[in-house]
Amino acid sequence: MGNKKPAMKNRELAADGRPVQVKDDRSLRRLLVSPHSHIVDRLLTIIRDTGALLEGHFELDPSRHSPYFVRFSQIGWNQTLVDQVAAMLIEVAPFVAKPSTIVCAETSAIFLAQALGRKTGNSVAVTAIDTMRQPTAMLRTGNVDSRQPIVLVSDVITTGRSLTPLLGLKPSSSAFRGIVAFAVLSTARFQDFARERNLESEWLVSSTWEASSPAPAECRGCADGETLLPANEFS
Ligand SMILES: [Zn+2]
Repeated sequence: MGNKKPAMKNRELAADGRPVQVKDDRSLRRLLVSPHSHIVDRLLTIIRDTGALLEGHFELDPSRHSPYFVRFSQIGWNQTLVDQVAAMLIEVAPFVAKPSTIVCAETSAIFLAQALGRKTGNSVAVTAIDTMRQPTAMLRTGNVDSRQPIVLVSDVITTGRSLTPLLGLKPSSSAFRGIVAFAVLSTARFQDFARERNLESEWLVSSTWEASSPAPAECRGCADGETLLPANEFS
């Protein structure tokens, strides 16, 4: 009551706070970029047709909210599309095809890890997630061969920090070939994360929007009183 800033609704979300799919090409081009310009058209078409880019009010972690999120499962359930995505990733990150164990957490990353496994012949190991849907180092399926390096696979990386437990699967960073993902949201922070650990990394799309602090003055969703959606629930 009283001094609340008038809510300026500058977009229309579903009335119950459910996210909506971003399907127009102009918005997609504004919101997503690729470090690999020769495949960006194909990637944006896949994202548009599957509705994988969501608009809403997402909690990335307790200190960061985001107006958009990439839901990879929209692509992952379609084997033809996920195979195309895997082929693009192998093209831009040839280290994925070298003999290794592919490791991912039990999120939608499984779709991508399995597609990479089918294409490269490398085995796939999956680790459990905790009750907050954060990756752990506990193996759910598959084995980590002590003689083979690991390729870490994620569907959507925000800063990379949640992958830290997976780096505990081997004694040193030299035992990892690198990290690959479909999308990276906080690109600069993820690049720092990978550089500090001396890990190669590649991904297909990056977000152009910034996450914000969870405060009405900073975050459009908070200002509009939109329902907060835990981003992990969409992975
Ligand atoms: Zn917010």
